[in-house]
Order: sequence, then structure tokens, then C-alpha cells
Amino acid sequence: MTTDIDTKMQRCLEFLRPIALPAEKKADHAHWIAARNADPEQGEDYCRACCQKEVDRLNAENPDGEYLVDGGWGSESDTSGVCSGCGEPLHVGLTEHGVSSELEHFERHRINLRGTHAPYTAFYLVATLESAFIGDVDKCSWLRGHQADHVKRNQQGVRKLLRRIDAIRGRMAAIPPTV
Ligand SMILES: [Zn+2]
Repeated sequence: MTTDIDTKMQRCLEFLRPIALPAEKKADHAHWIAARNADPEQGEDYCRACCQKEVDRLNAENPDGEYLVDGGWGSESDTSGVCSGCGEPLHVGLTEHGVSSELEHFERHRINLRGTHAPYTAFYLVATLESAFIGDVDKCSWLRGHQADHVKRNQQGVRKLLRRIDAIRGRMAAIPPTV
């Protein structure tokens, strides 16, 4: 069964994906630092190149640590994917916690889908929307109590965000871009 929110979600994603494409092409999977004989003691995500650079630096400092590049596959994160080295976007699925902090972020900021930063904005919007659970919470036995409330709150945020994106889509269709 296709619900109202599914339809809106599809429409918004179809609008956002082409805008996000330049950022999408640059985005790497998240990598992080592991070590055989040391505590890497950091939760930072990197693109492959920056992770390698950081691993090389750590190994030069402490060769016994045997630092190495880990990750590089689909991973889940509480924060939006951005490389701690170069600031380029990373592909990460967001946890429900990650979804709420992204929703809060977008609620506080104006969403501009034109201009140089637009691909990044669209990329993070797509990541947030794709990670959000929009199914029927009450029918999910694995979602209970506090967690179910959290997901329901996120769904309200997602609905609001979809309305905003729809409005932007309408405005952008009405006013052609200035060259
Ligand atoms: Zn990087």
C-alpha cells in the first residue's frame, strides 16, 4: 500500500537527487582508524585518502601501534557523513538519532537549493530522508516504548521537512534560475 508520506517522499527524492549529484559523485564511504596494538581512541570518519594520510601520520609517530584503515563499506552513524580531514561528504546511513539531529539542523536553517552549496544541502537532505523510517510504527513489534516515540517524533519532522521541500520545488519551478 502506498501512503501519502511515501508519495511525498518519492516526489521530494526525485527532485533532490539530480541537485545532489555533484556531491554524490564526490562522496566516499566512511573510513575510520583502527590499530592492532594501540587504542585509536577517536570516533572520526574520513574519506579513504584522508584516513590513509592520518594512518600514515600515526604510524610514523608510533610504529608499534600498527594503525590501519578500517571501514569503506556501508555504515550507520549518529552524525551526518562528512570527512574529518577534507570536509567532503561521506555515504552513511543515519541512525534514528542521526535523523533527529539532521531534522533539527534543517529546522534551524534556511534551505537553499540553488548556488554552489546546493549539491551538498541536497545530498544531506537525501541522506536524512532515505534513513528516516516512515512505516507504521504501531505495526512494528521491534519498535517499542521510548524508541517508538522517538521514531514518531522523527516522522513529524520528516513530514514538515517534506512540506518545505515541496514548497521550494514549487518556487523553483516558477522562477527559472538566473544565469
Ligand atoms: Zn577526506
